[in-house]
Amino acid sequence: MPMEQLGFETIIVGGGIAGCTAALLLARAGINTLLLERGSQAGSKNISGGRLYTHALAQLIPDFAATAPLERHITQEKLSLINGDSAVTLDYRHTLPCSHSLLRARFDPWLMEQAQAAGAQCLTGALVDELIVRQGRVVGVMAAGEALFAKTVILAEGANTLLSEHAGLQAKPAISTMAIGVKEVLALPRERLEERFLLENDQGCAWLFAGQPTQGKVGGGFLYTNRDSLSLGVVCNLSSLTDSKIALPQMLQQFKQHPAVQPLLKNTELREYSAHLIPEGGAHSMPPLCGPGYLLVGDAARLCINTGHTVRGMDLAMLSAQTAAETLIAGQEPLHYPRRLQQSALWALIQQYRRLPEVMLQSPHWFTRYPQLAAAVLQEMFEVNGSAPTPLRKLLWRHARRIGLRQLLKDTVNGMRSL
Ligand SMILES: Cc1cc2nc3c(=O)[nH]c(=O)nc-3n(C[C@H](O)[C@H](O)[C@H](O)COP(=O)(O)OP(=O)(O)OC[C@H]3O[C@@H](n4cnc5c(N)ncnc54)[C@H](O)[C@@H]3O)c2cc1C
Repeated sequence: MPMEQLGFETIIVGGGIAGCTAALLLARAGINTLLLERGSQAGSKNISGGRLYTHALAQLIPDFAATAPLERHITQEKLSLINGDSAVTLDYRHTLPCSHSLLRARFDPWLMEQAQAAGAQCLTGALVDELIVRQGRVVGVMAAGEALFAKTVILAEGANTLLSEHAGLQAKPAISTMAIGVKEVLALPRERLEERFLLENDQGCAWLFAGQPTQGKVGGGFLYTNRDSLSLGVVCNLSSLTDSKIALPQMLQQFKQHPAVQPLLKNTELREYSAHLIPEGGAHSMPPLCGPGYLLVGDAARLCINTGHTVRGMDLAMLSAQTAAETLIAGQEPLHYPRRLQQSALWALIQQYRRLPEVMLQSPHWFTRYPQLAAAVLQEMFEVNGSAPTPLRKLLWRHARRIGLRQLLKDTVNGMRSL
């Protein structure tokens, strides 16, 4: 179809991080781009735990720090195994300039503004109802009863891939490859927050929890400090939830009551509550990334990795969108996009963690018995009651035998290999 009849060179479905990144790069290259976002504003339908690794943003907008509405520079990492009334916590302070907390309701509109300033047309409140497919090629979209045509459609619709599934471009994902997260944003005055978390200026804390938050199911809890609020939530694998005695919102409420968490939330006020899917199946769950007339980016391509100590979806959304845009800017057909991705750092990362999702599902002890083990060993180490303490080697041996040495060895080796 000649360009004059197309209307647009590229239509992007979805104004999240992936969609806005692609729109910005395409517009900068002078490509006639339309982005359609169903929310009343960018970010209104999006949630994240709230920590962005900024390397991809720095490539996209080198001076982002001057204008991007980021919350706090993460200088404090905490990882806790929580169980019963106890918590075993690793606390690491640093000055690595690699990540910030953020709130999507502030960040996404800013990113969309950058795309608009570069010349992209971005429409909010614009739900795409379906894709237009002619002779096996995606040639446009239907939105509000109107047919819009383009040479290429970028699908940046996020984890809930209704459009691409409906058009037969990808199958419904297996529930074992998906997680669901619930999150609250809790307001807390800045001075109190800084006092409570021992922070200064724009320093921030990222805290991940395993064990009690998901009641031993595959997943975990998170807490990020923002300027004057906390982002707190629980994420749980969907297949693991099917036999859970309690639902995810209740898990969050019980997590909030844990003695290690409750004091952190004192006198906070609920500002937002949201729930969202997360594609966590890794390399083995990825759909075909392109076809005639279309490309998939970000969560729609199931590019999200949760390693237990890092959660990375937003930077991967930016990187995949960047590769998709570069493919189109080079005048190449979508089928060149996967090849380009395979040569990128993103691909190396996806491959590195390809076994992790499966290993986590097959080793439930990481979420049940290992948090208990850590708490039990430390309790005996720190308890002073007048009798002679058990030597550490005996203590470790006793607890290790309870779990089973073979099981412990298997989980350790598999865990190490998958990381
Ligand atoms: C609880 C939780 C915690 C997380 N924590 C982190 C974290 O700390 N760090 C991190 O890097 N990642 C995190 N993630 C993952 C991260 O949020 C995603 O990987 C990231 O948002 C993917 O960006 P995206 O642009 O692909 O999709 P999204 O941000 O979901 O954007 C998709 C957009 O498409 C729009 N859309 C969908 N369908 C249509 C349609 N038919 N028509 C028009 N518009 C449509 C939606 O409204 C939405 O705006 C977390 C996710 C969750 C749920």
